[in-house]
Amino acid sequence: MFEGVEEIWMDGEFVDFEDANVHLLTHALHYGTGVFEGVRCYETEEGPAIFRWEEHLDRFYDSAEVYDMEIPFEKDELTEATVELIQREGLQSCYIRPIAFYGYGPLGLNPGKSPVQVGLAAWPWGAYLGEEALEDGVDVAISSWRKYSSDQIPTNAKTTGPYVNSVLASLEARGNGYVEAIVLNQEGNVAEGPGENIFLVRDGEIYTTGLAESILDGITRRTAIELAEELGYEVHDEATISRGELYTADELFFTGTAAEVTPIRSVDDNQIGAGTKGPVTDELQTAFFDLVESGEREEWFRYV
Ligand code: PMP
Repeated sequence: MFEGVEEIWMDGEFVDFEDANVHLLTHALHYGTGVFEGVRCYETEEGPAIFRWEEHLDRFYDSAEVYDMEIPFEKDELTEATVELIQREGLQSCYIRPIAFYGYGPLGLNPGKSPVQVGLAAWPWGAYLGEEALEDGVDVAISSWRKYSSDQIPTNAKTTGPYVNSVLASLEARGNGYVEAIVLNQEGNVAEGPGENIFLVRDGEIYTTGLAESILDGITRRTAIELAEELGYEVHDEATISRGELYTADELFFTGTAAEVTPIRSVDDNQIGAGTKGPVTDELQTAFFDLVESGEREEWFRYV
């Protein structure tokens, strides 16, 4: 995955890939006290362009705020460092991983005195669930692991530790022969995928689970809602979706920075629609890729 990656930006400087290491007694390694982002940079006619960078950066700082973590760099500094990293690596398109975490310091649960470390890495990353997945859709299963609720761990913050929930759901799904999982929330309704938001199409209208359903406020989710509305669809973006409604949906699809717009062709072996990418998903996926590859909506792109 990281073949050809030469440098990583860490705590204010570019370091060789091999030297981007942390101490064994890093607070975040023990307690999961890190926050992170996943961002994509697309190749456009005007050169590489980072998609919705400002929104990702805002979510990064907001996630940190929940843990009283002060990121010791200004947003502009991280922006410049990211742009320079992509240039230095000579990447036309890539995935970008900003991360901030409590570093080596006292190992009590209260991270108060631990220094905050920050890193930025970038590498080429194709379709997260595979190229065929974008065309044919993926087979998914409801996970037996429930999503934690936002009164247990804030679900609007993208924190490293809680991702063990996503790891368990993914392991279970893959172990049972599925490509991806869907996790239900504490109420037993649909939350999201382990690293994706979920959309449902029924009778020509679009539904996606609301922020109160213990989901991450996905930036691709926001993009998909906006594009769908522009295409003239009625979008219900605060929906509560039950497990059974998934089975009878006309279409289902995931959205996410890594997964982009990925159709779901079956849930728990129940075929969804025609068992392939549905027409509404297709229209939205096309609009999404047209947008990110054109770089045309300037306010959504940060050119490298
Ligand atoms: N939910 C979870 C749990 C995720 O990890 C992600 C990926 N960041 C998403 C949804 C999708 O969010 P985004 O579109 O901002 O990548």
